[in-house]
Amino acid sequence: MARAAKRIPGGVNSPVRAYRGVGGTPPFIVRGEGSRIYDADGNSYIDYVGSWGPLLLGHRFPPVLAAIEEVLAIGTSFGAPTEREIELAELIGEAVPSMEMVRLVSSGTEATMSAIRLARGFTGRDITVKFEGCYHGHVDSLLVKAGSGMATLAIADTAGVPKAFADTTMALPYNSVEALEEAFQAHGDKIAAVILEPVVGNMGCVPPSPAFLNALRAITTKYGALLIFDEVMTGFRLAFGGAQELFGMTPDLSTFGKVIGGGLPIGAYGGRADIMAKIAPSGPVYQAGTLSGNPLAVASGLAMLRHLQAHPEVYSQLEARAAMLCANPPKGVTINRVGSMFTFFFTEQPVTSWDTAKLADTKAFGRFFHWMLEHGVYLAPSQFEAGFVSAAHSEQDITDTLTAAAQFFAQQ
Ligand SMILES: *Cc1c(COP(=O)(O)O)cnc(C)c1O
Repeated sequence: MARAAKRIPGGVNSPVRAYRGVGGTPPFIVRGEGSRIYDADGNSYIDYVGSWGPLLLGHRFPPVLAAIEEVLAIGTSFGAPTEREIELAELIGEAVPSMEMVRLVSSGTEATMSAIRLARGFTGRDITVKFEGCYHGHVDSLLVKAGSGMATLAIADTAGVPKAFADTTMALPYNSVEALEEAFQAHGDKIAAVILEPVVGNMGCVPPSPAFLNALRAITTKYGALLIFDEVMTGFRLAFGGAQELFGMTPDLSTFGKVIGGGLPIGAYGGRADIMAKIAPSGPVYQAGTLSGNPLAVASGLAMLRHLQAHPEVYSQLEARAAMLCANPPKGVTINRVGSMFTFFFTEQPVTSWDTAKLADTKAFGRFFHWMLEHGVYLAPSQFEAGFVSAAHSEQDITDTLTAAAQFFAQQ
């Protein structure tokens, strides 16, 4: 870590990896296999981070590796159209009917940034509504009350974001129908889009209330604003059709990443064909990428999604394993869970928003985190992150995890 910190800011290429939220220094990882990762000191861990979401089927899933190897034999990038890009766009459209057209990019951040630009270009309006505690990547205008790494580091406003950009964003409390109604009553004709995590992962796992979901669709439609589901985390994880399938919702635009790359860098945004027609070269909203639709990432993602399409039982297995993990909240802990996303919040209050999430005892979480790490369980190093169960987690993995957790709470 000391060597890393000399050449890499904080020693890491993404902030939460540095363990600032829990103290100590992170293990350096040398290998992963199924539900486990291995560090440079020879320790093995049951992994509930799964590369922060992408590895729904575990590390080194054989069909994904085979697909990557096939592409290695023909070339890694062409910057020209390839057939697999059509196949991935078609498959995403089959899984998620609101995705009539899809544009591939290289990260979730790129997807949300582009979706917002498109929403502005389409509506001719400037303001975006987001929710406190939701993270949509490190897009300038969206780094307002952005949960996740910023919450972990207690950074309120990012240096380097001009006030004029931040002023185009209104941040409202998650799950508040009242705040949403008020915002639209005051500024409805200036709001281009409402973007949200349909189940939040980035302040820890926080589900939406049915009333909140209904209000989102009704109010955006009434005022002519676009509803954007940021499914970078939830897409293909909570259901094959994402959170929108789970809740029976039809957003105007959606963003994807993580699972759709099978562990390689990818993102996607898409939705209504009349809106997507505004993207260059068919329309005036510019967006481009040298490595967009990269053959390796596309092949990896296709293998992942095809496996999920052919094996819907993966989702019932994920549900069963995650339910087993979260069945008995220890005293002083509130567990939020939707499908295979979960968070152990160190608070007795229900957690429904950023204001309630931040009441959690982060010091107690830090002690729990280090205990679990010492006992072979690798959790996200922050109270304000979701954990992920993968299809590679066995019942034995869950039992071993629960045993380690029970020992922690017994010695409290
Ligand atoms: C991870 C995440 C992003 C950002 O994706 P990157 O690939 O890290 O840029 C955006 N939105 C949500 C909901 C995420 O969980």
